[in-house]
Amino acid sequence: MAFGSFRAVSGASLALDEGEIIGLIGPNGAGKSTFFNCLAGDMVPTGGRIVFAGADMTRASPEAHARAGIGRTFQVPTTFEDMTILENVMVGAFLRHPRRADAHEHARRIVEMTGLKDQAGQRARTLGTPGRKRLEIARVLATGPRLMLLDEALAGLTPAELQQAIALVRQIHATGVTLVIVEHIMEVIMTLTQRVLVFNQGHVIASGKPDAVVKETAVIEAYLGH
Ligand code: ADP
Ligand code: MG
Repeated sequence: MAFGSFRAVSGASLALDEGEIIGLIGPNGAGKSTFFNCLAGDMVPTGGRIVFAGADMTRASPEAHARAGIGRTFQVPTTFEDMTILENVMVGAFLRHPRRADAHEHARRIVEMTGLKDQAGQRARTLGTPGRKRLEIARVLATGPRLMLLDEALAGLTPAELQQAIALVRQIHATGVTLVIVEHIMEVIMTLTQRVLVFNQGHVIASGKPDAVVKETAVIEAYLGH
């Protein structure tokens, strides 16, 4: 993905198996969010190819990506502030459930699963950080994804809230959803992921099992050194 002559992501190749849970790490500006933008159809890559479940998605719209089962959270949440938590989740649920009653029922289940039941009737603007993180995940989950891309979805939580959020991601993964997680919190990467890719200046500079990857010198220099 180039912006003019600047290549934000270049030669980054990823083959993802169904049911995997992998991590993407790397310093700010490494190209992680841009990679997600391409995978989710929010940007059309200037080169390369994206195939999902046998279908070429390279130039498909964000809506087509959502329909195909690719859901992503945004680093800056995209909440409808004056709508309730339940209504926000219903926006996602309408993708698979055109009838309002069905969307409502589906959203209600997602709200419960994501621990937002007690706040379901509140406007989104009243939510604190942990609630917002949950709502961002709930909104995507409501679209019925086969693949979820989490872009720093667990940042800014207290240690206790983080443990709950990790448990929620585990629960989502256990339902059969494949996950790619961009996260700076190494605990999340180490405890949740089976495989890690390290981005630096738009390139994948290392990949492998989490414990092996963090030991690699290049990684420590590129990532932990910043
Ligand atoms: P990360 O998520 O790893 O922190 P990003 O993917 O957000 O990194 O950004 C990678 C690089 O691409 C940065 O240098 C950023 O400034 C640049 N970039 C991202 N989006 C755009 C855009 N829409 N136009 C121009 N440059 C961009
Ligand atoms: Mg980013």
